[in-house]
Amino acid sequence: MFNALIVEKDEEGKTSASVQSIGEDRLPDGDVTVAVEYSTVNYKDGLCIGPGGGLVRNYPHVPGIDFAGTVETSDDERYKPGDKVVLTGWRVGEAHWGGYAQKARVKADWLVPLPDGLDTRQAMAVGTAGLTAMLAVMALEDHGIKDGPVLVTGAAGGVGSVATAILANLGHKVAAVTGRPETADYLTSLGATQIVARDEINETTKRPLEGETWGGCIDAVGGDMLARLLGQMKYGASVSAVGLAGGAGLPATVIPFILRGVNLLGIDSVMQPYENRLRAWQRIAKDLPMDKLEAMVQRATLSDLPKLGKDILKGQVKGRVVVDVNS
Ligand code: NDP
Repeated sequence: MFNALIVEKDEEGKTSASVQSIGEDRLPDGDVTVAVEYSTVNYKDGLCIGPGGGLVRNYPHVPGIDFAGTVETSDDERYKPGDKVVLTGWRVGEAHWGGYAQKARVKADWLVPLPDGLDTRQAMAVGTAGLTAMLAVMALEDHGIKDGPVLVTGAAGGVGSVATAILANLGHKVAAVTGRPETADYLTSLGATQIVARDEINETTKRPLEGETWGGCIDAVGGDMLARLLGQMKYGASVSAVGLAGGAGLPATVIPFILRGVNLLGIDSVMQPYENRLRAWQRIAKDLPMDKLEAMVQRATLSDLPKLGKDILKGQVKGRVVVDVNS
């Protein structure tokens, strides 16, 4: 028997989440069984713990879009018992039972061996949000980061915090956009050189072009924020668009793309092939300062998750939440 956070749906369509002790026979099909050590809380997990928003395919469901742990049994020659592994994406925690349990069974293709230099807890302090932040940095690098600060929006959140720390560690000036002024000291400690109030971007004129200010951008917010900042990018600069915490609409014009050659790069961590995920994890082990990582992390248990799921949807979670599934 093992513990899992099970989300159930009643006949009226109302969902509820509770920690239950269940048998291994309940695990879904897969070729590798993992003794999960840590998982994390991401925006999508908030959706999946609650009504699901179309993400959850079947109830009862175990959310948790990422986890790290130790292989217990494997039918795949790439993994053997005792191997440390990390999983992100592939709709685990949405369409397949995820990491909010002491055991998970998944396809071997979805796993990555834990890179040297990271333990399972650190890997989950990074988690899906951190992997996405690294993929976003790598996309900016591929297209060239221009002179001038790199803007990070939703900076006090999971993706934003890790992106800030990585960019600062690589020597870039980072302008961190936040709607929570009380997080300024935290963002400065991660390496931000400038704190920009959310309204400073959102309430700029709606002219399609403004002063050329930012040498690149990692945007976790979307919506009006993304539309406004496109017109503030330096000539030829790129925006890695990772999220939509502020809305899925994009009330922008084509002018920044035509007259400033701005690149809008969509970043998806979910369906990244094995080679890309491995490369990103190796870069994380190399380029993310571990002391900064510790400052971003709060710890939680399985029973804390129903509340944390609600908090993250309200934009109230700071940094990363690591879930110790065994405590
Ligand atoms: P968090 O909730 O940790 O961070 C989001 C941050 O956005 C908040 O902390 C807040 O930052 C800001 N924010 C929230 N609401 C608003 C709003 N209405 N207007 C403007 N800013 C707002 O989430 P994550 O960092 O985990 O994820 C961020 C986004 O990225 C989500 O949309 C998520 O779904 C997406 N994502 C995408 C991935 C991909 O593969 N593309 C992978 C992982 C996440 P502050 O208080 O500093 O302003």
